[in-house]
Amino acid sequence: MKKEAIAMLEERGVTLRDLAELAYELQNPYIPITVDIALENVHKVLDKREVQNAILTGIAIDKLAEKDLIEEPLSSILKRDDSLYGIDEILALSITNIYGSIGFTNFGYLDKVKPGVIGRVNDSKGSQVNTFLDDLLAGIVAAACSRMAHSLGDSNKN
Ligand code: MG
Repeated sequence: MKKEAIAMLEERGVTLRDLAELAYELQNPYIPITVDIALENVHKVLDKREVQNAILTGIAIDKLAEKDLIEEPLSSILKRDDSLYGIDEILALSITNIYGSIGFTNFGYLDKVKPGVIGRVNDSKGSQVNTFLDDLLAGIVAAACSRMAHSLGDSNKN
């Protein structure tokens, strides 16, 4: 299922390298890493079944909304990315949660500032419904950051 999750991300315009570059930028000031190490960690995050499930579910809902296959009132809520909806964040936090509390801080930052590919996805909202996607990306990057922070003193568990 990891393969399907990656394919779904790519179909929505996001590569794992985009996510790795973002994780690298966030952690580079604090720990000695490279983009390749960040990429390895993004892969490890995507090895988790919970993460694959979150990606498949969130992107499926975005695509259904985009094709007008969801009933009202949810359809409109999803299409305008209503900030009070909140389920997109909850789903994405299920990714971040796996790696403990450092993830929350990173997720909050990414969700607010929307750097790199997260901003790009957020800006392409006119043509695509990305209500779940931006949060999923923030969740994956935050999880990869936490993983790197933890594994620095902890020789690559998880
Ligand atoms: Mg969202």
